[in-house]
Amino acid sequence: MNKVYDLIILGAGPAGLSAGLYAGRAQMSALIIEKGQDGGQIALTNEIENYPGAQLEGESGLSLIERMSAQVKKFGTGRVSDIIESVELSGDIKTLIGSHGEYKAKTVIVATGASPRPIGCKNEEKFIGRGISYCATCDANFFRGLEVYVVGGGDSAVEEALYLAKVARKVTIIHRRDELRAAKSIQEKAFANDKIAFLWDTVIEEVCGDELLDSMTVKNVKTGELKKIAADPEDGLFGLFVFIGYNPNSKLFDGILNMENGYLITDADMHTNIPGVFAAGDIRKKSLRQVVTAVADGAIAATQAEKYIDAMEL
Ligand code: NAP
Repeated sequence: MNKVYDLIILGAGPAGLSAGLYAGRAQMSALIIEKGQDGGQIALTNEIENYPGAQLEGESGLSLIERMSAQVKKFGTGRVSDIIESVELSGDIKTLIGSHGEYKAKTVIVATGASPRPIGCKNEEKFIGRGISYCATCDANFFRGLEVYVVGGGDSAVEEALYLAKVARKVTIIHRRDELRAAKSIQEKAFANDKIAFLWDTVIEEVCGDELLDSMTVKNVKTGELKKIAADPEDGLFGLFVFIGYNPNSKLFDGILNMENGYLITDADMHTNIPGVFAAGDIRKKSLRQVVTAVADGAIAATQAEKYIDAMEL
């Protein structure tokens, strides 16, 4: 018979690792299941300076995550690499069925995160963290005084463009149509901002550069005309911030856990609608998706899982 863990944590981003740390320190038998690399979105960020204490020379999202992973290991939380394909969460013992095995636990924390929707243009992956960013709060400061481009026309794109305009020399919003989707009040602020320009009916075909992003080819979708945009030679690079929506990694829980637009609904203590099942980090419906909020969610979820088991065993 399979071992029944106290807790299974699905996902090894900041939320999952924080939950693993708290569970390990509480001496729960806990297992983290991750399908790929630790870290989720933050592992894609070249430099990190908005997580309190992350001040080490050359600190990247990846180096921060490596230290988090090592800290979790120290406290004995188990690790397995697997892709979970189905779940049975309703009873006292929850079962997660993966491509390599079946895992059982009294409690589960879902920390599967959300993935920014990519542009889908040529070379995009090569320049993630080297000019391309999906997070203005994380990366705006690296483009202080430089030119940046923002892709998208929704609330996120326009709000983030307004934020970027505070630090960048110039911000150009590239949108695939000739009108924005963003709320009128947000649009008005952008139209009134001298630092913000617009490139309408335009999509990005290819991004280029040696180490850092320094040019791109864009296409006018109405005329088909291709145009090359290059960095100012004095700058040698520009920023490209992508806000064309996010894809929450919650498909596995469709029809099982309550969600809104794919984001799991929890209370302030991370409980989902199923007793013993918690959610933490970017997968949750919440107002600020950052490492600092993800690790807080993970700590709360693991502490609540421990309380749930204590109550079960009374
Ligand atoms: P969104 O509203 O879905 O907007 C995505 C934008 O990206 C749209 O303008 C869309 O173009 C464009 N887009 C989508 N796929 C694209 C592609 N493959 N290539 C180029 N462009 C593409 O996403 P969001 O702005 O992240 O907002 C998500 C939700 O959060 C929305 O409900 C929004 O109202 C809400 N939100 C609210 C606030 C606020 O109230 N302050 C702030 C942020 C977000 P089209 O317009 O042509 O479809």
